[in-house]
Amino acid sequence: MAEIAHAERAHALLSASSAHRWLDCTPSARLEETLPDTTSDAAKEGTVAHEIAELKLRRALVEPISTRSFNAQLKKLKDKELFDEEMLQYTDTYVEYIQGVVHAFPSPPYIAVERRVDYSSYAPEGFGTADCIVIGSKQLHINDFKYGKGVQVSAVDNPQMKLYALGALKAYSLLYEIETVHLAIIQPRISGQASEWSISAADLLAWGESIKPKALQAFKGEGEYVVGSHCGFCRAKEICRARVEHLLAAGSRAPMKPPLIGWDEVGEVLKKAEGIVSWYNGLKKLALAEVLKGGNVSGWKAVAGRGSRDYADLDAAFKFLQEKGIDEAVLFNRQPLTPPALEEALGKKQYKELLEKPGHVISRSGAPTLAPADDARPAFSDQVKPEDVFSGPVGS
Ligand code: SF4
Repeated sequence: MAEIAHAERAHALLSASSAHRWLDCTPSARLEETLPDTTSDAAKEGTVAHEIAELKLRRALVEPISTRSFNAQLKKLKDKELFDEEMLQYTDTYVEYIQGVVHAFPSPPYIAVERRVDYSSYAPEGFGTADCIVIGSKQLHINDFKYGKGVQVSAVDNPQMKLYALGALKAYSLLYEIETVHLAIIQPRISGQASEWSISAADLLAWGESIKPKALQAFKGEGEYVVGSHCGFCRAKEICRARVEHLLAAGSRAPMKPPLIGWDEVGEVLKKAEGIVSWYNGLKKLALAEVLKGGNVSGWKAVAGRGSRDYADLDAAFKFLQEKGIDEAVLFNRQPLTPPALEEALGKKQYKELLEKPGHVISRSGAPTLAPADDARPAFSDQVKPEDVFSGPVGS
């Protein structure tokens, strides 16, 4: 098996994963290119999980790997700094999903794992790596494993997945007749259910044609800066002038008359100010880094944060306290694990058998949270009164 090198995967300027951004804000790709690319721990963790997923998938469906060789390769991955035991379980979910797709075909389909796809006919110099491609019976499946647990990514009309599919169509349409394209995102840390979406090959090709002018603009770095939810992972998100102006314009309606703003205005202000808190905190972090490396951020300085206390030698300190007659119950806080923590400790299967099935766990829905009207979740029913949720008298 070829050396797995997810971390070294090359990225196109018009990468598929940032397509939702450069299709809406065409100059963003060139602007991001001027800023440092900092890889977060979450991204590094995702890389390890992908490497495990690839190894397992190859062994399950593509090439026979002896148990010895498999274990040796897995051990190497387990030795990586960001490896976590739960990766084994989540990568199993991914592999089981792909096995389900493969076994649903009447005869063995073609399978490609970690296949580089070229969609440069639609977006200049565009290429990417599809996690798993399955083709058979005039069907093309593009499967993407996502290890993030922050935001659930939907496969519906997803431009990243559509670009991979366009690349796969280009690579395989001479060999295979393809009528329908199925896109699936498997994000097991958020949901056991994959997000799936299908489109005809003809419609996909038409979409590919439709994005060509925007892709060309993006490649040249031309067009308007457009602020939206796509800014979330943009490298420029803290210091992009368009976004800063947009966020600060949230207060431009003040002063408002009458003195109290109405609910219509509340809705408008909430919408305009969306993202302002995380942007502000991100900008502060960036400014602190600048000051700490000797830069000047007008009107700001770095100061020591709140201190903390720690034991010089925990074992020695506790031994001493016990010798002095301090009871263990005072020294240790014994707490039962929460159901999610216990699920992690026991594994999904044992958790289900020992806790869920006998009815030892009850599920409660979370407290209501405010969401935009177009949020995919159904509106919260009014059967629960606000006073049942927010305990304590207002103003007390
Ligand atoms: S932060 Fe938003 S508006 Fe600014 S370049 Fe990035 S995507 Fe475009």
